[in-house]
Amino acid sequence: MSSCEFQKQQGQDEIQQQMEALILQERMQEIGKKLLVLSGKGGVGKSTVAVNLATALASMGKKVGLLDVDVHGPSIPTLLGIEGRRIDVEDSMFLPIVLGENLKVISVGFMLEDKSRPVIWRGPAKYHMIRQFLKDVKWGKLDYLVVDCPPGTGDEPLAVAQLIGSSARAVVVTTPQNLAIADVRRSVSFCQAVSLPVAGIIENMSGLICPDCGKRISLFKSGGGEALAKEMNVPFLGRIPLDPQIVVAGDSGTPFVEHFTRLPTAKIFHDLIKPLVKSDNVNPSIISRESQVMRIAIPLVGGQLSMHFGHCEEFALIDVDETSKTITTKTVVKSPEHEPGLLPRWLHEKGANLIVAGGMGQRAQGLFAENGIKVIVGASVDTPENVVNHFLQGDLQTGENVCDH
Ligand code: ADP
Repeated sequence: MSSCEFQKQQGQDEIQQQMEALILQERMQEIGKKLLVLSGKGGVGKSTVAVNLATALASMGKKVGLLDVDVHGPSIPTLLGIEGRRIDVEDSMFLPIVLGENLKVISVGFMLEDKSRPVIWRGPAKYHMIRQFLKDVKWGKLDYLVVDCPPGTGDEPLAVAQLIGSSARAVVVTTPQNLAIADVRRSVSFCQAVSLPVAGIIENMSGLICPDCGKRISLFKSGGGEALAKEMNVPFLGRIPLDPQIVVAGDSGTPFVEHFTRLPTAKIFHDLIKPLVKSDNVNPSIISRESQVMRIAIPLVGGQLSMHFGHCEEFALIDVDETSKTITTKTVVKSPEHEPGLLPRWLHEKGANLIVAGGMGQRAQGLFAENGIKVIVGASVDTPENVVNHFLQGDLQTGENVCDH
């Protein structure tokens, strides 16, 4: 190939890559919320949590997609009793397997010829496969996408976190033993490094419920997950005990929460996802630890948070001291003319790294993300000081995104 041909080819490759990035961004914007289920290592019940989380959300009437990109041990098909199924392709896109009214599933396991043979993936092949699964699945409109990520903090979870875009949060699964706790510390640090907000930590296999008296027996030291959550300033979602029925359900391919609805452990599952659904409890750890100064921008109307981002008259720019959790300075600036794409650049130039808003469309959120500004939506009308103080205390309640048409 001549150097001229080589340059032409390179240019075409770049255009192709940019097109694919745009398609991926559009697909991701069709999905309401994304929950990435992570763990520091394998065998802690990450896939079990992902399946039951997705099933519980679907049983609440949410439209849910469950995506299994655990390249080294895709166990979702087994846990759901859909092993050996082949997926169809329509318009060059994968069609997920539909289970019941609200749940759709895609797993890398459907692509493997022989489950008993280990798959040796090269790094770029893994990245390509993960990107294809995020980009080329015909989900339709989803309220939630639950992603069962590969364990650890290596290239694969990094690829998922980077490709999935905004409005994603991590659910970190751990077990009580010290080693697993050290792993989860790495997982939380990983989320902070890639600016992925942590929705919460779940301590799985935490004690055993006595089948006779119903009391919890601690087998290992329990409570480590909760202590760690406090230390790392992320929510603790709860403990799931060791329950032989979970193994029975997993082996028979039936989601536990669906099959054993009346058992105490199924109720625990439902309880621990409540905070994920009801309100997005946002906490300051969503800001990368690398950022030294936190400047929060609040769109205002009449001096209070504006419910519709596009209607704001001015912005409060509030600097905070993360250590003492206090406001250091507040300035109010008039909003510039509303021109497409201007506000994200303008706020970036003003040094904002977080915006807390009532409602904001997905496209605008994507533009802020591109300008390195995190977005929290669904906050209520209040003074900017109150909004920021709640955020700093980790109890900012957020509801529906009123502009999420
Ligand atoms: P991971 O995805 O982290 O590798 P899995 O979800 O595949 O872990 O779970 C590993 C094994 O542990 C499975 O056999 C599963 O049924 C079992 N398991 C998971 N959580 C529990 C629990 N709370 N009680 C009993 N068994 C569990």
